[in-house]
Amino acid sequence: MEIDLRRFLKADETEDAVSCELDFSGVELGGVKPFCAPVKAKVRLKSFAGSVELRARVEYTLAMPCDRCAETVSKEYAKDFFHILVKELEGEEDGGEVISVPEEKLDLDQLLLEDVLLDMPGQFLCREDCKGLCPQCGKNLNEGFCGCYQPETDPRLEVLRQLL
Ligand SMILES: [Zn+2]
Ligand SMILES: [Zn+2]
Repeated sequence: MEIDLRRFLKADETEDAVSCELDFSGVELGGVKPFCAPVKAKVRLKSFAGSVELRARVEYTLAMPCDRCAETVSKEYAKDFFHILVKELEGEEDGGEVISVPEEKLDLDQLLLEDVLLDMPGQFLCREDCKGLCPQCGKNLNEGFCGCYQPETDPRLEVLRQLL
């Protein structure tokens, strides 16, 4: 979705809100396409001193394999992003918070996709305490222990056990 920013850049205190659904279903990450459901975005725009403030709330679901046990799980996220759109940059770096819009229009999908991708969790787990797979037989240890799995013994406990 492209937003025409001319009326915002022309007059201060111009406000508007946009709600839309974004289709990120074609986006591939590490061999999977995690955006299985439409991404919902609520965007508020407000002009101020020749620039436009953009506040976005983006709701999306990621369906990806767990980094430890490889089980595919989906998780819902709701994130807020903030940008200042300017016609010309004055020293600031493009990208990040300040975005230059020399043609006075904004590709909203592209901007929010970048925001969401930059905000991706470093590790995607089915649950915080996922036990992963047995390194020997490959069994999913969340479903119970296998015979070959030996929890590592703490040497201090071992000394205590011998004393007892
Ligand atoms: Zn897991
Ligand atoms: Zn095992």
